[in-house]
Amino acid sequence: MIGCSIAYQLAKRSKKVLLVEKNRIGNKASSAAAGMLGVHTELENGGLLQAAMKSRDMFPSLSEELKEISGIDFEFSQNGMIKLAASESDVNNLQHVLSLSNDVEWLTDKEVTMLEPGLSERNLGGLYAYKDGNVCAGKLTLALAKSAVRLGSDLKEFTPLLSFILEGGRCKGIRTHNETYYANEVIIAGGAWSSQILNYAGVELPDYPVKGECFSVMLERQIINRTIFTDGCYLVPKRGDRILVGATEHPHTFDESNSVAGINLLMNKAIEILPDLANGRWEKAWAGVRPKTAGGHPHIGRVRGYRGLSIASGHYRNGILLAPITGVLMADVLEGKEIDPMFEPGDMEERMMNGEGKG
Ligand SMILES: Cc1cc2nc3c(=O)[nH]c(=O)nc-3n(C[C@H](O)[C@H](O)[C@H](O)COP(=O)(O)OP(=O)(O)OC[C@H]3O[C@@H](n4cnc5c(N)ncnc54)[C@H](O)[C@@H]3O)c2cc1C
Repeated sequence: MIGCSIAYQLAKRSKKVLLVEKNRIGNKASSAAAGMLGVHTELENGGLLQAAMKSRDMFPSLSEELKEISGIDFEFSQNGMIKLAASESDVNNLQHVLSLSNDVEWLTDKEVTMLEPGLSERNLGGLYAYKDGNVCAGKLTLALAKSAVRLGSDLKEFTPLLSFILEGGRCKGIRTHNETYYANEVIIAGGAWSSQILNYAGVELPDYPVKGECFSVMLERQIINRTIFTDGCYLVPKRGDRILVGATEHPHTFDESNSVAGINLLMNKAIEILPDLANGRWEKAWAGVRPKTAGGHPHIGRVRGYRGLSIASGHYRNGILLAPITGVLMADVLEGKEIDPMFEPGDMEERMMNGEGKG
């Protein structure tokens, strides 16, 4: 998602782009994602909330734009999200968000029931983010990639980056199994694998993977209208009378398999919130690996120590939401514009090995 969004924004600015992907486009976290554009769920901290709002607000026009260029409808829906309060401390924490954002309102338990009659009545109200929405993340990734290609970019799938061309403190390109590509700028957007990739340049990045599991259910007819978010579980209504339920958190593993315990936990929690989900037909379960940074904010910027080398990674649980703004910010960085220093990938500097790296 992140690499495709950057490629698309650069192609729009008439840059010549080569997108190099180890497997197929969108085969990892970006197709495992639930596709929520949940600005207020985990982004209550300062600057990232503003960036997330900007990114979310790019979706309506992006949806039209990408449909026109690529022919792909990524199923954008601005149907809102309710974050339920299960305890008095949830009420306090959620009501605090009201002071940070104009896009939310408080719902009493009765108002929650009026909007979503299928929910069990065990809640103390909730925060309603009426501008939030959701997309089909896999389709959005493909739409961005296809649009970048339509605007003149090249795409090479099944082509892992194996090393960098590093000379005199400058990154001059990359090597794959059978080709060498020279470029003025190289951007690493390898999700949870960015640390491994950056290691080929002799730079250590203290990011780590966090596995997440989801499952989906098919219904006779849709039983929720908005995304329902609680501690430990969310339910996202999808096209075709489906509901997607996510997601577990298992840090420090690249394992992409589902565990019985993980899915069982999600099922119990989901049925507790939405009892009629139990009547749905099982569709499938899957898992993906999110990229998490040690500092919490994604890295978007130049890798210190090498001219011509940048990174856009570490979007953790919000890479779909933040994809549009990331593409714009990375393109700005390459054009020499200053972006919010919060995104600067600074914490890897002292771990630089001196000299030319491993190449
Ligand atoms: C279960 C789950 C639910 C989620 N739900 C949401 C959500 O609702 N909303 C939201 O905003 N975010 C969500 N996320 C987070 C979101 O999916 C990620 O933040 C986002 O997909 C990260 O995108 P990415 O492009 O950085 O990483 P990825 O999609 O993982 O892409 C990295 C790519 O790099 C490629 N690669 C790796 N090594 C190499 C190499 N050596 N050479 C070339 N290519 C290489 C991989 O093959 C892969 O295609 C969820 C994540 C999970 C796992």
